[in-house]
Amino acid sequence: MNGEKQTDRRGFLADGARVAGVVSAGVLGGFLAGRRGQAEENRWQIDPDKCVGCGNCATHCVLDESAVKCVQCFDMCGFCNRCTGYYTLDGLDSRDTAAEDLLCPTEAIIRTFVEGKAGQNFYEYTIDTDACIGCALCVKGCALMNGSLYLQVMQDRCVNCNECAIAVACPSDAFVNVSSDKPYRLKRVALGVMRQKAGKADKAAQKLIDQVQADE
Ligand code: SF4
Ligand code: SF4
Ligand code: SF4
Repeated sequence: MNGEKQTDRRGFLADGARVAGVVSAGVLGGFLAGRRGQAEENRWQIDPDKCVGCGNCATHCVLDESAVKCVQCFDMCGFCNRCTGYYTLDGLDSRDTAAEDLLCPTEAIIRTFVEGKAGQNFYEYTIDTDACIGCALCVKGCALMNGSLYLQVMQDRCVNCNECAIAVACPSDAFVNVSSDKPYRLKRVALGVMRQKAGKADKAAQKLIDQVQADE
């Protein structure tokens, strides 16, 4: 069962990695550091605006454990109490955290109480990447609301097959080639928000823009 723990909301909003939102700084930084000095190479990635959450990412990767994982874009998240990416429809009513009320089959979504304000409670939802199998159940659930949960190919796990077996099975042509120095994608709406922030001299937003592949 997923436990709830308390943290300070100002603390997590001030954290640059959370403002950056989409992929953990550790994953991205480690990947880029590891590739420094190597020849330029394209990588497989998912265009999150095209993914329809069919489930093939969990079952068609050549690896025993799929290289595709869910990520959370905090800049799009509503920090909802009644999170449609976390709860089943029945669970939404009970808001219990019993396994049968939760969408995720592997307990990979961690719900943390962050703030009670004006009679409303707000929660942060983070992904335990090791536990996530890339099944997209939460992605489809979250799409009913803000769509802040989405899938990405984790570049520190993917072996970059010449022909990605998931790309072949993807019903929505969501797999794209991106350059190895910008191997992750933001949703277009999040990219727009980041550009607005960068225009106001937000350094964390500018750093993220510099690191992700933009679909121009
Ligand atoms: S993609 Fe599937 S396994 Fe991963 S966090 Fe979402 S529901 Fe859980
Ligand atoms: S390129 Fe290969 S390892 Fe990477 S996601 Fe596709 S099937 Fe999996
Ligand atoms: S195969 Fe394509 S549509 Fe299905 S979950 Fe993966 S990226 Fe999304």
